[in-house]
Amino acid sequence: MNVAFLASEVFPYAKTGGLADVAGALPRFLARAGASVRIYMPFYREVREKGLPVRRMFGSEGFELGGRPAPFSALEHQADGVDVMFIDRPDLFDRAHLYGTPDGDDPDNGERFAFFARASLETMRSLDAPPDIIHGHDWQAGMAFAYLRFALSGDAFFAGTRSLFTIHNLAYQGLFDKGILGRIGLPGSLFAADGLEFYGRVSYLKAGILYADAVSTVSPTYSREIQTPEFGFGLDGLLRTRSSDLYGILNGVDYLEWNPVTDRLIPARFGPRDLSGKRACRAELLREFGLPDSPGAPVVGLVTRLAGQKGLDIVCEALEGILALGVRIVILGAGERAVEEFLREARSRHPDGLGLKIAFDERTAHLIYAGSDIFLVPSRYEPCGLTQMYALKYGAVPVVRATGGLDDTIVDLDPATGKGNGFKFSAPTAAGLLGGLRRAMEVYGRKDAWRALIRNAMASDFSWNRSAASYIDLYRKLLKTPHP
Ligand code: ADP
Repeated sequence: MNVAFLASEVFPYAKTGGLADVAGALPRFLARAGASVRIYMPFYREVREKGLPVRRMFGSEGFELGGRPAPFSALEHQADGVDVMFIDRPDLFDRAHLYGTPDGDDPDNGERFAFFARASLETMRSLDAPPDIIHGHDWQAGMAFAYLRFALSGDAFFAGTRSLFTIHNLAYQGLFDKGILGRIGLPGSLFAADGLEFYGRVSYLKAGILYADAVSTVSPTYSREIQTPEFGFGLDGLLRTRSSDLYGILNGVDYLEWNPVTDRLIPARFGPRDLSGKRACRAELLREFGLPDSPGAPVVGLVTRLAGQKGLDIVCEALEGILALGVRIVILGAGERAVEEFLREARSRHPDGLGLKIAFDERTAHLIYAGSDIFLVPSRYEPCGLTQMYALKYGAVPVVRATGGLDDTIVDLDPATGKGNGFKFSAPTAAGLLGGLRRAMEVYGRKDAWRALIRNAMASDFSWNRSAASYIDLYRKLLKTPHP
């Protein structure tokens, strides 16, 4: 089975969040399950600067999009049984960032990612065998499904191809002005309520939802939540019309990257039977963040984008209360300026309680998972969430808001039976968060119970094998159904 995987970020080439981890790991596990996978992603500056060995597979000088010349090259790189096809178009992708800066998105993102989608399809057409499955991710890949339906519908090359669109986060919709359709070579008639129009703009996410053969999202709970007004971001009605083709497949963890037994990014390694390495990581974490140690004070870690979704406003509101519990907090995050400034100011008031690093930094992230006692994920909504799963593996006990994939992966500790791998709270409020932390603190105070809880956490298994098998089953099912 040939699978073409379209993703705007893929670890280890370029990463701003969980999509990159998924797009970096899942193809390898699909390949192990027998699929032949080729990933398509833009050739950003940070990818070029890695100097990877690439082979120029395809160069299209005469290609036009929206009446304008759109020359590009496709550069092939091979890694771990998976082909990666980088779409090289310097004027669109040779930039210092992927999507934008804290001051805003790039104004030509509509052109950039429509081009990425179209150029990926063009590259596929230049290859010997058509893909059986085109699997696109998030709004950046959404327009591939519109091109397949409207620009390439009569193309015999794709006649046997079926498609799947995966939503990693419904809140990022790729909304652009009406004029974009002409500029990217799609008919203006698509600007309609039953087409791509969304409250006066063109939605790239809608293209995936409407025109892919099936839609999936990254946890069973989130696949149900997005069909409700509370979590639907205005698309719940449309998603309900697709409910029979809407699947929820939980993301997995790549335990080759995220494993304290083998992790080379942390100062000491450890496993569930010997936690002395974890104590060394904890000491190093406190040192790096300039916090004094106190054995009775658990270290509460956060690794997060500083965005409304992640509940940082709740953390800010609860901050004095959290510190009053007698914990140390370490936060690694980057994103919204207002949150950054609030936390910087709070840090200056609590130099012994709050550690802060405003950055996107892979090594520090690993150190926080390894060195924390408790890992806090207070998201308002969470499609899957990877950080709580990484924290489990590193024996940092998650305290999470019960939503989406957080609800699917964390089992609240039952004090009577000792079953469970963390703590969940329901209300997205300071009181809710403090309630969850207090319950964790109470168990932290009982060393044997805490030990047992860490063991449960570290034994939780979210390896990709199971999820990859679910995707393969879904691909097979799609290949059996006729085109709509
Ligand atoms: P999302 O994709 O919504 O940001 P996920 O939990 O799915 O959330 O994935 C987040 C990924 O990004 C994890 O690999 C996490 O370690 C990483 N990450 C988030 N913030 C940072 C940061 N400031 N520095 C380093 N890694 C980060």
